[in-house]
Amino acid sequence: MARPQQLTPLFASVKKLKGIGPQLAQTMARFFGAPEGQDAILLDLLMHMPAGLVDRRHQPGAAFAQPGAISTFLLTIDQHRAPPRGNKRVPYRIIAHDDTGEMMLTYFAGRAAWLEKTLPEGEQRYVSGMVTAFQGQKQINHPDFVVKPDQFDEMPLVEPIYPLTQGLSAKKIQGAVRDALAQMPEMPEWVPENRLTLNGWPSFADAMRQTHMPGTPGEAALDGAARARLAYDEYLAGQLTLQIVRSTLTRETGIAREFSGALAEKVRGALPFSLTPGQESALTDIYADLRQKRKMARLIQGDVGAGKTVVALLAMAAMAESGAQSALMAPTEILATQHFHSISAICDQVGLKVALLTGKMPQGERRAIQAKIADGEIDIVVGTHALFQSSIEFQQLGLTVVDEQHRFGVHQRLALSDKGRKTELLVMTATPIPRTLVLTHFGDMDVSLLTDKPKGRQPIDTAILSEKDYDRVVARLGQRMHEGVQAFWVCPLVEESEHLNATSAEDRFKALNQAFPGRVGLVHGRMAAADKQAVMEQFAAGELQILVATTVIEVGVDVPNASIMIIEHAERFGLSQLHQLRGRVGRGSKKSACLLLHGENLSEIAQKRLETIKETEDGFKIAERDLELRGEGDLLGTRQSGMPGYRIAIPEFHRDFLDMAHEDAANIIESNPGLTGPKGDAVRTLLYLFRKDLAIPLIKAG
Ligand code: ADP
Ligand code: MG
Repeated sequence: MARPQQLTPLFASVKKLKGIGPQLAQTMARFFGAPEGQDAILLDLLMHMPAGLVDRRHQPGAAFAQPGAISTFLLTIDQHRAPPRGNKRVPYRIIAHDDTGEMMLTYFAGRAAWLEKTLPEGEQRYVSGMVTAFQGQKQINHPDFVVKPDQFDEMPLVEPIYPLTQGLSAKKIQGAVRDALAQMPEMPEWVPENRLTLNGWPSFADAMRQTHMPGTPGEAALDGAARARLAYDEYLAGQLTLQIVRSTLTRETGIAREFSGALAEKVRGALPFSLTPGQESALTDIYADLRQKRKMARLIQGDVGAGKTVVALLAMAAMAESGAQSALMAPTEILATQHFHSISAICDQVGLKVALLTGKMPQGERRAIQAKIADGEIDIVVGTHALFQSSIEFQQLGLTVVDEQHRFGVHQRLALSDKGRKTELLVMTATPIPRTLVLTHFGDMDVSLLTDKPKGRQPIDTAILSEKDYDRVVARLGQRMHEGVQAFWVCPLVEESEHLNATSAEDRFKALNQAFPGRVGLVHGRMAAADKQAVMEQFAAGELQILVATTVIEVGVDVPNASIMIIEHAERFGLSQLHQLRGRVGRGSKKSACLLLHGENLSEIAQKRLETIKETEDGFKIAERDLELRGEGDLLGTRQSGMPGYRIAIPEFHRDFLDMAHEDAANIIESNPGLTGPKGDAVRTLLYLFRKDLAIPLIKAG
């Protein structure tokens, strides 16, 4: 469907507006993140929300003006006093008065010609700005607005303040937004009627007008009705997109899988433990999904160490019994290899054929495995995400498991289903994600939670120490090493550069290797995969006792014998990241410890964050706290990965509307999957407005 006609003006280039030339247009394109090579459009201006307001409604009269307050006056201009020639330190002063008293207008380095034109002696002007007092005289330095009495309407009495960038002044952007508003068409209403009336929301167009040209500060307040409606709209557009993706992923092209569960039973028999209640119920969910004709799209949210891998294995066993293949995708080669090793012993016992496919394999070997995959000789293929993006032919791929992947966005999910495959999809997160983020990023998937941990896990002792304690930490570590313990040593995170991360890890490796020669290994992101792998294997085999690492070990690495985790400059890490790192220990039955070393001058907030980690091992709690402290984009690393960011909605104010939007989107797509009729058109308009171009071609054909 083509874009609704009435939206056309809003999709015009900002260059169409008065006073916006090529240079300003370029600045705007960059500032608003217009697609490469395209101009910013009027819609970008409308979606650029004010960050605050200036209230100039106060008109106290010159005699009653309060220094420090922004006020507006109707002044008669009496006299210009230019500074003495050549003296730049004396400002240009203009004496003025109103019915109540005198007011001075002050311009530093003021240009006489311009001032004489703007504020001619003997005439009246509305003047607005911050009042100050100078030697008992009330004055306004550089008034914000000077307008003729008959142009009073042009002065925004409640003035929105916009985020700015170099080369884009407040005046320019205000003017441009107003001009864009003038082009705003009336829109059909897409918000369900009861939602609209219950909340007392204005129409979209009115909400935009109130936000950008408020008559009162309340109209544009962050917690006001206009902004709430727009935030809801933004959430609704996002949730609709996910629902549309979902119906694409799960549309009835799936297969009702048939299996008795006998093979999975065998796998259970081969496990050295029994499943936790959380694992059991996740499997119940998964098996029910598989047996339905609808395709599975399920997210397993599990805390670190909750045992997601086993759940995946049992799902893959059921798939094998039903006669189809499975792919297990890990984010790194280390993890892929580890998964392969950890499941292949059990697979061998029960007759499941599993193969590892890595990018570093010799060509011949890889070809041989690919041939077996194509023949259907292999039941389970383990590899990296990257690898599966290249073309592997399966005889019949039934299930894709995506492990430890927060950033597995809708685009990737669609790409997987795009190949006309009838594949079921299971995604496993690395750590718990707060509910709001699940809705935002995985609102198209069903969710199973693994909140419990396997029995017999000992709590991890977490301590907060200063880097000044380094020598003591090393001495103590030496003692424990005599007892045979193994430790991870994670080096400080340097956000800017993987190179610096590697350097700091190398330095730490040298220092520790001097203290414990031959007992220390090093892995970082700039090493060749095979070298990393070799070191990991030595560590897992107990040949090395300390593994110095960058965050490459953050996710997934499972060495049950390791019982000490030391994290340098812990304050630089996100809470979920620290939780994830700590989760690398405490996997065996040994008592484990985690030391959070921080730099000097720890801020109060940083201290609080570290204490959160010390206080609790509940990943779900930590994730919520992390969200409060860091904001959404950072938590999932979405800034880089192009996942949805919000321009209007602010979680602190609008989180509740996300739930509403989620519910409404589901109802809309269920009752009107083709988005037909006038209501459907209105919803499409919304999708265009929020530029959900991804969703539109997917809308189910009539
Ligand atoms: P994660 O959920 O963090 O990916 P893993 O799947 O790596 O966790 O499992 C962590 C460890 O717990 C592994 O060593 C695994 O064998 C073990 N494990 C998994 N489930 C159970 C269970 N029900 N009882 C005991 N140990 C378990
Ligand atoms: Mg795992």
